[in-house]
Amino acid sequence: MNVTEIFETMEYGPAPEAAAPGLAWIKEHEPFGLFINNQWVKPANGQYIESINPATGKQLTKVATSNSADVDAAVAAARTAFETWGKTPGHVRARYMYAIARHIQKHSRLLAVLESLDNGKPIRETRDIDIPLVARHFYYYAGWAQLMESQLTNYQPVGVVGQIIPWNFPLLMLAWKIAPALAMGNTVVLKPARYTSLTALKFAEIMHEIGLPPGVVNILTGEASQVGEALVRHPDVNKIAFTGSTDVGRSIRRATAGSGKKLSLELGGKSPFIVFDDADLDSVVEGVVDAIWFNQGQVCCAGSRLLVQENIANRLIEKLRVRMEHLRIGDPLDKAVDIGAIVSPGQLKEIQRLVKQGVEEGAVMWQPSWACPTEGYFFPPTLFTNVSPATTIAQIEIFGPVLVSMTFRTPAEAVELANNTRYGLAASVWSDNINLALDVAPKLKAGSVWINCTNLFDASSGFGGYRESGFGREGGKEGLYEYVRPKWETLETPLEALHIAKGSTSSNGSGSIQDEDGESAFQDLAFGSANGYVAALPTIDRTPKMFIGGKQARPDSGYSRDIYDPQGHMIGQVGEGNRKDIRNAVEAAHAASGWAVGTTHNRAQILYYIAENLSSREDEFARRIVQQTGRPYADAVAEVQVSISRLFSYAAWADKFEGVVHRPPMRGAVLALPEAIGVMAITCPDEYPLLGFISLAAPAIAMGNTLVVVPSQQSPLSATDCYQVLETSDLPNGVVNIVTGDRDALSQVLADHDDVDAMWYFGPAEGCKHVELASASNMKRTWVNYGHPRNWLDPVQGEGEEFLRESTQIKNIWIPYGE
Ligand code: NDP
Repeated sequence: MNVTEIFETMEYGPAPEAAAPGLAWIKEHEPFGLFINNQWVKPANGQYIESINPATGKQLTKVATSNSADVDAAVAAARTAFETWGKTPGHVRARYMYAIARHIQKHSRLLAVLESLDNGKPIRETRDIDIPLVARHFYYYAGWAQLMESQLTNYQPVGVVGQIIPWNFPLLMLAWKIAPALAMGNTVVLKPARYTSLTALKFAEIMHEIGLPPGVVNILTGEASQVGEALVRHPDVNKIAFTGSTDVGRSIRRATAGSGKKLSLELGGKSPFIVFDDADLDSVVEGVVDAIWFNQGQVCCAGSRLLVQENIANRLIEKLRVRMEHLRIGDPLDKAVDIGAIVSPGQLKEIQRLVKQGVEEGAVMWQPSWACPTEGYFFPPTLFTNVSPATTIAQIEIFGPVLVSMTFRTPAEAVELANNTRYGLAASVWSDNINLALDVAPKLKAGSVWINCTNLFDASSGFGGYRESGFGREGGKEGLYEYVRPKWETLETPLEALHIAKGSTSSNGSGSIQDEDGESAFQDLAFGSANGYVAALPTIDRTPKMFIGGKQARPDSGYSRDIYDPQGHMIGQVGEGNRKDIRNAVEAAHAASGWAVGTTHNRAQILYYIAENLSSREDEFARRIVQQTGRPYADAVAEVQVSISRLFSYAAWADKFEGVVHRPPMRGAVLALPEAIGVMAITCPDEYPLLGFISLAAPAIAMGNTLVVVPSQQSPLSATDCYQVLETSDLPNGVVNIVTGDRDALSQVLADHDDVDAMWYFGPAEGCKHVELASASNMKRTWVNYGHPRNWLDPVQGEGEEFLRESTQIKNIWIPYGE
């Protein structure tokens, strides 16, 4: 080809990065071992699996496959290491982490080459995105290790963490998981995906190189059925962090139910890419390239659904086709290649299957005229038009370079279409009207919203899903809370410490709650009258109904249940709620969704009003507590007063838990906004009939959620007495719904309910397990106590940011600026 011809075609010459250093490193390290306790060890079963170069389909090397014996050894090493690492000062951990970051940079070229060889992604991406972000994560979280003692004073590390990562961003996912875990003083056993283990093994070598203490990081290669499942079920693992498919996430949720393991799940997505008619279409085209052809579309947050305003759809599709015609596919090590290889033949087949199904379902498929390489696993960029929103390709995560496009007319229609998915990981909004974009962003059910940009990531800004995209966040300060637990959790069981006896009668028979010295636990609060006062009991005059949609509703069953005092005398009746009552309550809670978008000022005022109305009936509520629990009047008054104070606290927080602005390394800002989760179900504890109810309901409504509450089964009358307080406090109908009855039967219905977005359960351990198991159906977020009581009187245990965090999910809105 002569110069004139080159000028005419603008054809790139080949610009390959040398594979030789990567291949030499592989040769040097064969046979690969497992990295346990800073030693390279042979797998217990002596077996190895192939690691393939997806761009050639040929074997690169073999890696060891671990089994449960290796998992036992790695977890034991991590447990021993935790004894020291968990107590190592944050400053020292920070220095190790800075060393990791620097060594990642030192080996960045080799890491980038290995990643491209092993995964098939273009070197341009591994070199310019994956590896720099890996280093950035270790730098960023080294800072949090340093600051932990001053900024997370009430928290401690979780312990030994099992981490399972996918093949799409092998080293980056490792960094997202290991960096915050180490920063917070945990030790780690990590399983890379079976297709892509090489950079994790190079990372292990770096751990050795920097002298990280043995056992702090352990890497086990191998297959899910051998090592992944054993890690998830291991009794000495305190937390599982997983990224991968929603189906596997669901199975991990079920496998860990009731075990007390902390869990974070970063799962699939079908993210919308919304283009309004005033957007700059040339920028949009480049945005689409980054949204769906970055990493061959094998990205959980890929903008795989293009939603275009109808009047510009034809113009945009035409421009896209022209751009697609010029995309370059081929050798991932070629620096001028846009699209590399699909990770495995299995993944390629799955993409081909779904594309075929799209055509069969009537969508119009378009691919560029050029052909893919015949060797290796390649699939061309693909665009579907004429797609109906209900079809498979519009709903299922294809995880390949396949874009489906649909049109809308109005912003409201765009939001509706965007949210028409079971996922909620990310969204992009393109418009030159920033007011419109910022109006749409909060309405999108997604953890990240990129305005006029896409697929941006940074350690400072949290990432994670809504709905079936999982729960928990990675990145940012919020990511730290996945790797810590409150310090008080290791203290003696709080209620045992207070000698609260079964049936609410204390061990000395007086019925008061006492601490170790026999003093009243309420003494410091010094609120009410002297101990020993027993109030006259109100007469049984009526059976409280359910409280649904702001109205008192008869139970569907037509039955009621008797409520007894600790001496076994019947003191009242409540309605026996059933599945239908729950259904009605959930519907009422959904109908009240306007609560979330109202002003925080308004929510604060209503909470103050509830507190004042409760305060004016302090004596009546105290007597009711005495009646139900047999506790002294003074204790009961104190419980009412702490409840009032708690309402004041959350009224105060309602307009102050507002989020932060991040400054990632770009021209722009990221708004990290805590948003309401939606409809929440709350099962209240039996201890403290009023305070338990208020401590849980108040933060949840302060943050904008609407609730279905099951009050204490043993002592529900304090909650049902609140009906009138709620009715007279301007709380909109349906924000709080109360269903009385059998705690576990009602909780099961709520946990199974697909229209409930989150569930808190404070009850026996068995009930917690059922809630976690059932929650897997729609991957609702859960918060349970595993049967451990909490001291609701204690402001550290009974109120504060932990409750606000559990009531919210963070949405990160990325706003670049500049011309
Ligand atoms: P998986 O979810 O199966 O795998 C992710 C990781 O989990 C891998 O390390 C895998 O091990 C491991 N794993 C699989 N099953 C279990 C289990 N039962 N217990 C413990 N660990 C387990 O993803 P796939 O690789 O099979 O990809 C399938 C689909 O998942 C893709 O087409 C895509 O739709 C989605 N996906 C989503 C990702 C995301 O980032 N959200 C990432 C990857 C895939 P092993 O590699 O040995 O199987």
